[in-house]
Amino acid sequence: MSQDEPPIIDLQSDDYFMGEAIREALKAYRRGEVPVGAVLVHEGRIIGRAFNQVETLKDATAHAEMLVLTQAQEAIGDWRLEDCTLYVTKEPCPMCAGAIVHCRPSRVVYGISDPKGGAAGGWINLLQTETLNHQCEITRGVREEESLSIIQQFFREARAKAKERARERKAREAADEPEDVDLWSE
Ligand SMILES: [Zn+2]
Repeated sequence: MSQDEPPIIDLQSDDYFMGEAIREALKAYRRGEVPVGAVLVHEGRIIGRAFNQVETLKDATAHAEMLVLTQAQEAIGDWRLEDCTLYVTKEPCPMCAGAIVHCRPSRVVYGISDPKGGAAGGWINLLQTETLNHQCEITRGVREEESLSIIQQFFREARAKAKERARERKAREAADEPEDVDLWSE
């Protein structure tokens, strides 16, 4: 193989589709949203792609999974997402896992596990609860490190910005004080 040949990309693989979900997560990152992305795949084709938009839409339910499920239902023209696979960069929360079970995709693939709030086995497992009317196959940990590093970077920057704002506020308050004293002394 010559060096000019592009690397072979398997366009049907979990790695490939998770890469598309990561691209969505990066869009969220650039907009100052918690960077989580999702794509929905039917018969090897992406029929929905979305990223977390809670801040933009001022809607606590605007998680990537919720948005991608709605898109996919519109694309298919049915609420049943049978034979579909949902790819998401982070384990779904209980709200999203509940919505996923209602839409019945056959499989869910995710990157980062969430032991505190994950509802695909991290904390609880709503996707494989026998008393509910649908169970999904689950594949965990796909391209986990990439998704994790994007989220960690996001929160590192958010903490730094919050610190900077607090420092500026303090500096402003300190600068204002002498003026106040002058006003009172006049
Ligand atoms: Zn969620």
